[in-house]
Amino acid sequence: MKVAVFSTKPYDREFLEAANVNHGHELVFLEGRLNLEHSILAKDFPAVCTFVNDELNAKTLNLIAENGTRLIALRCAGFNQVDLKTAKELGLTVVRVPAYSPYAVAEHTITLILSLNRKIHRAYNRVREGNFALEGLLGFDLHGRTVGIVGTGKIGMITAHILKGFGCKLLGYDLYPNSECQEMGMQYVSLPELLAASDIISLHCPLTRDSYHLINNETIDHMKHGVMLINTSRGALVDTNAVIRGLKSGKIGYLALDVYEQESDLFFEDLSNEVIQDDVFQRLQTFPNVLITAHQAFFTENALRNIAETTLTNISDFAQGRNCANVVTI
Ligand code: NAD
Repeated sequence: MKVAVFSTKPYDREFLEAANVNHGHELVFLEGRLNLEHSILAKDFPAVCTFVNDELNAKTLNLIAENGTRLIALRCAGFNQVDLKTAKELGLTVVRVPAYSPYAVAEHTITLILSLNRKIHRAYNRVREGNFALEGLLGFDLHGRTVGIVGTGKIGMITAHILKGFGCKLLGYDLYPNSECQEMGMQYVSLPELLAASDIISLHCPLTRDSYHLINNETIDHMKHGVMLINTSRGALVDTNAVIRGLKSGKIGYLALDVYEQESDLFFEDLSNEVIQDDVFQRLQTFPNVLITAHQAFFTENALRNIAETTLTNISDFAQGRNCANVVTI
């Protein structure tokens, strides 16, 4: 099948080309995102392949459907960037990669918790500059701390498993409690209870209409003073201005983000020679107790191999009229 692969980086190309040896699709790699402006590039491609920050809103979908596209193959698990209602009306099939390596994201979450707690981001720079003082680097034992996991699906559950190994007490909040989490000793509570009792809160639920700005002024008020907040899920789960207020008051003692609501203007690009225009993001960077990575939680060899293989299998299933388990439905 002829596929326009948008938002391609060299690493995407490497893994997709390797996997395509077994599929034989005609892959055309494009660096730009699929959005309204670039939608003409999809003309005459029956399939487009996109990533987390492509903008598949109603206007873009209408244009690509008019120009012959029938399949949208997402190289990611989340599908909040697609107007699914419009896609359905236009007869566009949307497929995704529901799980490529939940371990990659869970392990990155743990990396952020440990780095923030022991201030590795600061210690690294100090030691390189010959500053071997310890003031300001005081951490705490994770053992015995209470961690609240919001969203206990694949990634939340693995994160909980690892934290259990550290001797943490686990609280969970999910619309559908996970029996494996309960078996490992996680206690399910309401969201306000989780927020009030947790020393560390880690977000692992999808971005939906219900979870938009789940972390806001009101929910931050419920939290313990000095709480650690980790978001490796989706940026818009968090109201960034509310979090900045929380950081300024000390209510939030530690913040790590791998995702950011306005990340599409920043992440995945080298902007080191440019003036960053996002003042909210720049304010976040001024706090010593904030650690930001640029949506890299998924970024392991295992995950890229699985993403490439599942994406091409999804496209092959569609091309050959087979049932595909990874179709996204409303
Ligand atoms: P999953 O579907 O296995 O689990 C999500 C869980 O969240 C489910 O148990 C669901 O019931 C629960 N949930 C849904 N709405 C909720 C709400 N409002 N409140 C509480 N819980 C809710 O998904 P997963 O594979 O564990 O992935 C979780 C999220 O991680 C994805 O939605 C995606 O946004 C994010 N993600 C980030 C990266 C990254 O690189 N940073 C990579 C992959 C996935």
